Formats: sequence, structure tokens, C-alpha cells
Amino acid sequence: MAAPDLHEVLGWFRGLGGLPAQPGTVYLVGGGPGDPGLLTLRAAVLLSTCDVVLHDRLSPPEALALVPDHAEVTLVGKRVGEQGLTRGEVDALMAGAAADGKAVVRLKGGDPFVFGRGGEEAEAMYLAGIPFEVVHGVTSAVAVPGAAGIPVTHRGLSAGFAVVTGHEDPSKRGGHVDYTTLGRFPGTLLFLMGVSHLRDIATQLIAHGRDPGTPAAVVGWGTTPRQASIRASLATIADAVERAGLRSPAVTVVGDVASLGEELNWRSRRPLQGVSVLVPRTREQASLLSARIRALGGEPVEAPTIAIGPGDADALDAALRELADGGFAAVCLTSPNGVRAVARALARVQLDARALAQVGTVAVVGPGTAAALWDELRIVPDLVPDTATTDALAQAFPTGSGRVLLPRADLATASLPDGLRAKGWDPVEVSAYVTRRPADLPAGVVQRLADGDLDLLAFASSSTVRNFVELIGGRPWSGRVVSIGPVTSATARELGLEVAAEADPHDLDGLVDALVRTATDHDPDRHGP
Ligand code: SAH
Repeated sequence: MAAPDLHEVLGWFRGLGGLPAQPGTVYLVGGGPGDPGLLTLRAAVLLSTCDVVLHDRLSPPEALALVPDHAEVTLVGKRVGEQGLTRGEVDALMAGAAADGKAVVRLKGGDPFVFGRGGEEAEAMYLAGIPFEVVHGVTSAVAVPGAAGIPVTHRGLSAGFAVVTGHEDPSKRGGHVDYTTLGRFPGTLLFLMGVSHLRDIATQLIAHGRDPGTPAAVVGWGTTPRQASIRASLATIADAVERAGLRSPAVTVVGDVASLGEELNWRSRRPLQGVSVLVPRTREQASLLSARIRALGGEPVEAPTIAIGPGDADALDAALRELADGGFAAVCLTSPNGVRAVARALARVQLDARALAQVGTVAVVGPGTAAALWDELRIVPDLVPDTATTDALAQAFPTGSGRVLLPRADLATASLPDGLRAKGWDPVEVSAYVTRRPADLPAGVVQRLADGDLDLLAFASSSTVRNFVELIGGRPWSGRVVSIGPVTSATARELGLEVAAEADPHDLDGLVDALVRTATDHDPDRHGP
């Protein structure tokens, strides 16, 4: 059975996550370390109900996907060496939007009160008379080492930890960080914002009494698909990090716990860890495939390649009324979109699943459509062919007579009605929905395809392949193609794509398996046309 979409999940949790974002209020929200699963319930509810989001560079991109369409989203944080907004300007933006009656989320990475300047922003809201709420997040100080298998405390190794800014240049006098004390601190030291000063930090710690052989680790982009970590001793960590080219954002761990790791590193054992997968999808459908990829450690990169629009609603409504009156002997559903269109139309004409009780045979093309039929109408189909193709569906039909309703896409092929006619049936095609191609792929996706920065491309239908090839046009791309079944593979080959793997069975589970197989099989030839 298909998992519910995110909005449904939020619906369940809304009671626990509190009231929606209120007009005139500023919410200082921690977005966690990067893994969207580490957002809090409260953060998810506020993000999905606010009017304005002001976010930093390190807030998780998936968190922004929760924001409603009408909301205004602005990046206010700056990159190193870039001119961002000043603190005062950010405060004024937040207070101004709230005073205009907007529900404002100020989204920060990790926890807003850990080097996030959340305290200062809260003070500014207090002084401006703007009501505010602070929503804590999972801080990178704890979660990022943890994501590399390093617990910040551990019995026998560390009885405490200190979270320290690495932003200050430790070789300069008059700083706020007291290295004399840190040199003697009996526990784990965690430095945030410290990659550029790592060498000086290590030198200062050793000068103030830390053993040069103390285990150390630096973990970059922790909890995200880009996670990378380096382990060495305190004396050698700066060289090791420099050699590996590891950069900010990263958390530095100094202490015996940094020697732990591989046994505790469940993330690195996931089969798609660090693998990026292009997921072409419809704009409307929440992608179950993305959730599966993420659960296996991969990075789903979604690109809408199909937009679904309404078909001939009047014709579909009329056909379903006839169906409820016993006007059809069978109904054939050939896609989850078709099922959803039928479910929506039934609701429109105030009928329900019982309308389909009037037909002798409910047939679906494959397991994905069967799952949608269960989700939408709680109906188990009478007929599912062994291979998920419309030809196989026509083959699977017995000879017979009577009208067969085919609620389909406008672009559907003639093989199904022809096959049914050959067996004596009278197929009636109705346009249940139309598919369109969006104007272009998202710019970020085009760039990553050009840079060879997408490992796999997962195609779940012929139309997504066709639209992808048209959308990418003559622009360069690379990545290995994985297809859901023989029809999709044939389309891909016809269009000049090399298919690295094909799913078997031809459903979501099969596709996920094929992605894992392809990711673990190290074929050096990883290039598209
Ligand atoms: N409020 C944040 C910290 C803000 S300071 C929190 O509680 O996590 C920014 C620093 O956080 C970065 O320089 C880096 O040291 C650390 N950081 C945040 N996200 C990180 C990530 N995913 N991986 C590694 N370090 C991260």
C-alpha cells in the first residue's frame, strides 16, 4: 500500500505540532542540521501555514518545499565574502512583515539559540513590540558528529561536551574563547564555524595542554547527502582536512569519542548513501519514490517533467453516471492519474466506490495503478496483467461483449481499445486528464546534469522519458538511466538513451531495487549521450 503524502502526515500531527502560524507573529524557527526528517513537528506546521519566510543559507531546502504557494520566501543569510543583509535590515524586514499582519517564519539552520543570533533577533522583536515564538531545532553541534557515528558523550570516554565558536581567530589577542580553559576541559570539544581556523585552533589546544594524539574529526554537511568526514589526531587534522579539500559547513570534534564511529555509522551503511537520483515527476504528485530514495541515504532531485490538467470533465461525469446505472460491463484503469481523475469525478457527481460495483470487471494495468485504486476508492481490481503494459492488459481480457469504459490520458495509444475490440468488447474512451510539458527543467537541475553531478536518472514512465529528452534539448547531461519496465526502456532507447538497469517487477519496489543495483555496480561508463 502506498504511503500517505506529506500533507496528510502533517494533518495527523497538526494537533501535536500546535496551531498554524498566526498573523502578526514572528516565529524564530530552527530547521535542524539538514536532514528534513530532523525538522520538528512545530517547524513543519509553521512552515506549511506561514505567509513569509526569511531563511539562511544553511536551512534545509526540503523545509522550504513545505511553504504554501502564496508565501514570500527570501534568502537573507550571506555566503562568506558575499554582501548579505545586515542584522538591522533583517530585524526590520521581520518586524515590518509582522506589523503588516503577516505570519512570519525566520528559519535558521540547527537551533536558533546556538550561534544563530536567534537571541538577538528575539530581543529586537521584543523591543519592537512584535509577538514572537522561538521553535528550537536539532543543533548541528550534536547531530552532525552523530551522523558520522560519533556520540558527543559516551560512557568511559566523555562525560560532557562544550560547543565553541571557531569563528574567532585564536591567534589574535582579546578574543572571547578561552583556550587556557579549553585545553584542560575534561570532555568533548565541538567547534562550529571553524574550518578556516582549524590549524590555529589545533595549535592553541595543544599549546594549552591537549595531547597532540587526541582523536579528532571534521564532519562536513552532516546529515545531508553531501556528508563527508575526516578523522585524524589533533596534531594532523588540519593537514588531513586541507588535503581532502573539506570546507564549511563543518563541525570539528576533539576528544576520545572521535575514535568511535564505524560501528555506529548506520548512515554510511545505507545502500544509496551519497547517491543522487533525478526523479522526474508530475507537479502534483507527492513523490513516494523520493521518500524511498531518501530512506536509503540517497538524494532525490525532483524535476517536474509532466504537468497534469483536467480532461473532458463533462464526458467523464456522464460516463460515471452511466457506469453507476449499469451501462458498462468493465472498466480499465491505466494509470494512477486516471484513478485519481475517476475518484475526483465520482465525488463531483456525488457517487462513491459503489458505482464500480455495477461493472463485472475492474481491470488495472499494473501494481502502481492497483495501489492508487486501493488508496483512492478501497477497491481491489479483478484483473492485473503479469507485465504492466496496456498490450498485456488487452491480452489478459477474456473474449466477451459489452461496453468497456477507458478513462485515459489524452495522448494514450490505440493498442488497448484495438485489442479489446479484437476480443469482442466495445471500448469507450474518455479523456480523464491531460498531460502537458512544463516550460523547462529547474535551473539547478540543468546545472547539475551538465556538471555530471547527478548519478542516476529514474524514469517511471515513457512520457517522463520523452518529456525529459525534449526539455533537456541539446544541453549536455550525464548520469545512468534506470527504467521502471520494458515499455519505458524501449522509449528511452528509441530516443538514444542507454538504459543501465530495468526494474523487475515493474513497480516502485522494483525501481528502487534497480537503483540500488545500479548504484552498487561500478560501471566506469556512466555517461549519457
Ligand atoms: N544554529 C546552528 C549553527 C549556526 S552556525 C546550529 O544549531 O546548528 C553555522 C555552523 O553550524 C557552520 O559553520 C557549521 O559549523 C555548523 N553546521 C550547521 N549545519 C551543518 C551541517 N549540516 N554539517 C556540518 N556543519 C554544520
